[in-house]
Amino acid sequence: MSEAMPLKGKPVADGIKSRVVEKVNSWRSKGVEPRIDTILVAGDPASAYYADSKAKAAAKLNIAFHLHEFPESVTEDALLSTIRELNEDPVVHGIMLELPLPSHVSTSTLSAALSPYKDVDGLSPANRLAVVTGEPGLYPATPLACIQLAKHYGYELSGKNVVLVGRGKTVGLPLMHLLLRENATVTVCHSRTPDIGSHLRRADLAFVAVGRAGLVTLGMVHPNLVVIDAGMNETQSGKMVGDVAPDVANGVAAMSPTPGGVGTVTTAQLFANLMHAIELQKREHGEA
Ligand code: NAP
Repeated sequence: MSEAMPLKGKPVADGIKSRVVEKVNSWRSKGVEPRIDTILVAGDPASAYYADSKAKAAAKLNIAFHLHEFPESVTEDALLSTIRELNEDPVVHGIMLELPLPSHVSTSTLSAALSPYKDVDGLSPANRLAVVTGEPGLYPATPLACIQLAKHYGYELSGKNVVLVGRGKTVGLPLMHLLLRENATVTVCHSRTPDIGSHLRRADLAFVAVGRAGLVTLGMVHPNLVVIDAGMNETQSGKMVGDVAPDVANGVAAMSPTPGGVGTVTTAQLFANLMHAIELQKREHGEA
């Protein structure tokens, strides 16, 4: 058995970042300093890690990054008023709400408060609807990253049988709409699907976004399958692993690694969304 081609995220992310840098330079030459603000509530170590990696990526891209940190006991009202202030502040172009939030605050109330023009991870109702209808908007970064990864490595989606495992609000559901718009024939598997392998064995490509380490196993796949794994799970030893068991690489044509696959592209895509957000804001104010 030969090992699958690794669909590494770095070359895809590098391409996205170099286009972002061109746009950053262009905005700076017009006196606009691209800026993203992140709201981080204590209590979830992974969120703190992601916020830190965004700060580092922003610094490399010459993008201003502001972190708004809150204790776990923060009230929903305090978070809402921060979001409203950032919405109104013309020097802020993008707002990231790090999820998950503590259970006493409503993620949907806070998401709904985000200006759709600054909501760089596509959480607000207007942007969620835009993904469904194909209207212009800010689409969530991870589903966009999944599509970019497949396309970068030359995998055509139009007319292909694509199996999506997971129908979560952040990844699976928006990805389903993006795949349909790419003219893929999409089958969506979820927690009530009795035999996921029966679908994967007939698929050309599989996208997996569940949040269960090792959910997809070698017995479920076939040698021509292309697998893109968006899952991010932390093992007891603190290692990040995907939803697809590592030995699946011995039984498929190509597979994205975790870490170093979808997540790497997602971080870059978030800044591409920020560039798009600036364009939308300038257009909204008749300045572009
Ligand atoms: P989510 O909202 O919790 O959704 C999980 C989905 O998986 C649900 O549709 C659920 O089915 C399905 N599921 C659960 N157990 C299953 C099983 N045993 N068999 C089949 N399907 C099952 O998750 P999410 O927020 O969309 O995130 C999905 C994954 O993507 C997570 O690992 C997350 O960490 C990762 N993620 C990665 C990035 C990145 O940058 N790479 C970014 C965001 C998220 P039901 O609908 O039936 O409950």
